[in-house]
Parts: sequence; C-alpha cells; structure tokens
Amino acid sequence: MPEKQMQVKFWGARGNLAPAVPSVEFGNHTTCVEIQAGDQPPLLVDFGSGARGAGTAWLAAGIREFDIFQTHFHHDHLLGLYTFPPFYRRDCTLRVHAVRCGFRRSLGELFAPPYHPVSLESVPARVEAVELPGSGSREFPRLGLNVGWTAVSHPQGCSAYRFDDGENAIVFATDVELGSRKGHEGLSRLICEPYPAGLLIVDGFFTDQEINHFSDWGHSSWTQARELMHSTGAGSLIITHHHPDKTDSDLRALEAGAGGILWARENLSYRLRHNRRWNP
Ligand SMILES: [Zn+2]
Repeated sequence: MPEKQMQVKFWGARGNLAPAVPSVEFGNHTTCVEIQAGDQPPLLVDFGSGARGAGTAWLAAGIREFDIFQTHFHHDHLLGLYTFPPFYRRDCTLRVHAVRCGFRRSLGELFAPPYHPVSLESVPARVEAVELPGSGSREFPRLGLNVGWTAVSHPQGCSAYRFDDGENAIVFATDVELGSRKGHEGLSRLICEPYPAGLLIVDGFFTDQEINHFSDWGHSSWTQARELMHSTGAGSLIITHHHPDKTDSDLRALEAGAGGILWARENLSYRLRHNRRWNP
C-alpha cells in the first residue's frame, strides 16, 4: 500500500482584504483553503476572496463536483461567494457544508436581490446546502477523509474542522479567541483525538501587544496558537487569518522569531506524510 499523504494549499490567508498592503508573499485574499488527501478530489474551506482562484483552477483540472466546508458566515469568509466560477456552470455540483440553523435560508438570501441579481434557484449549478449538527464527525469516502468539527469561541459562532485520512490529520481553526474564558475543551479534543493532528492551522490575527486591546473580537495571537499546539501535542503549526495592515516584512519578522512556526503564504502548498509536515 502506498503511503498516505495530505496536502493543504492557501488560496487566501488574510483576516480581511488587504488592498492597501502590497503583498507578493503572503497575499491579499481572505480565507480560502484547499485540502486534498492523496489523489482523491480536493475540498475547500471557506468562500473568502481566494475562492475565485481555486474554482478557476479546479475547473481547468476537470473538476465538476465541489465540497465546501464553511467555518462561519462573517463577511470576510464569503467575499468569494459570488465570484466562484462553478456556480455559473450547468455541469457543476456544489455541496456547501456548515453548522448553522437556517444556513440554507441564509444562502438563499445572499443569492437574491438586492445582494445579487441571480437567485439560488436560477444559478446554473446544482447547489446543495448541507446543515451539520453543532459538533460531530462524518466519513466522506469521495474525499478519502473523515471530517470532524466543533464550535469555537467567536462572535456568532464558528466551527473548527479536522480532516483525517487515518494516518495524517490537519485541524483548521480560524476565527477563534483562544484567550476567551469560555474554554476550548472541544477544540483540544478535536486536535487530540483519535491521535494528535500533525498540522494545526490557527488564527493569529493579533500580536501579543495588540490582543490586550481587542478582547471579545474573536481572534488570537500566534503565541496563544503556539500554546495550543504544545498543550495538545500537535506536530506543527501554521498561522493564518493575517491582519490586513501587516506587510510582507511584518509577517516575515514575526515568523523569523517564532522558532519554526510558519505564516501561511497565498498559493503555497504544505504536505503531510507520516502525520508530519514536509515540503518537497
Ligand atoms: Zn475572519
């Protein structure tokens, strides 16, 4: 049996659009991440503005079936919704998975005037809204993955996801306030069970100096993310949801002082084998 391998690619890693910051390295697009187990079809996490690039590339690769896992519905995670090219093709099927009571209806409201000229019913693609319970896990044989999820601390709620091929696991936890008093038992369990994730991708929107002024904003600092990696035994950490004011050199400076922790770069892929991160 060939060794299993997983890959994660960032199509967008910003916490909000960053047009004022010229960035060739970390990018300006908001959250959209592609995850793929071996040669199975890839999946997407979030419709941030990076989604347009992902959809275009996938169509060019002949992909016509799309599974998108939405962490939550704040605007920065939906900026690519209307410009995701597969919506406008009759030969495409989209399944949007999300935890939210009434999310099916919300999706319909977003695809309606005055927000959008084309209603969800008249979008050419087949669109399915799959509502998930608050926490749980499910096998996705088509993707070669077990997907687990849990609620994390963020205004109006947000879900963290675990993508697990049985040998490698990636946990994606954007928009989480690790400093919140509410506790993070669910997230810790998601990372640890049934074995510690080899790669943790966590919100590091604020620096340690900034975070004291922004409690209840629903975000974390990279040192809080590092603490989470240590307390859960996760193998490695990539910081995401970069502040829109941070330049390439700001982010590079943070990374240089973080002892091997990486800051997500737009268009870059990271691989996992034997549940360890490696880049070819
Ligand atoms: Zn966000």
